[in-house]
Amino acid sequence: MQKNLSEKGTALLAKFKKFQKISLFLYALAAMSFVFLHNPLMAIAVVVLDIFLEVKIYICPHCGKTLDCRRKVAEDTCCPRCEKYLFRGLD
Ligand SMILES: [Zn+2]
Repeated sequence: MQKNLSEKGTALLAKFKKFQKISLFLYALAAMSFVFLHNPLMAIAVVVLDIFLEVKIYICPHCGKTLDCRRKVAEDTCCPRCEKYLFRGLD
């Protein structure tokens, strides 16, 4: 299956990749506020924000399952529940 992704699929893949970076940044921020600022409340708030974003953004476009954002995403990534290609068949 070497067909190019549709515009929608490409946009979603870009969004997921951007979100993974944001998520990584948020976890780093949480760790730093805990270790350096001794502020566990802020750390918890940041983690909650990250989980909230994950549930809102990082979902399968076909069945709506929340995906594991620590998994690598690529053009041919499949959803673990409905087993469809995440970024294909979106038009
Ligand atoms: Zn799915």
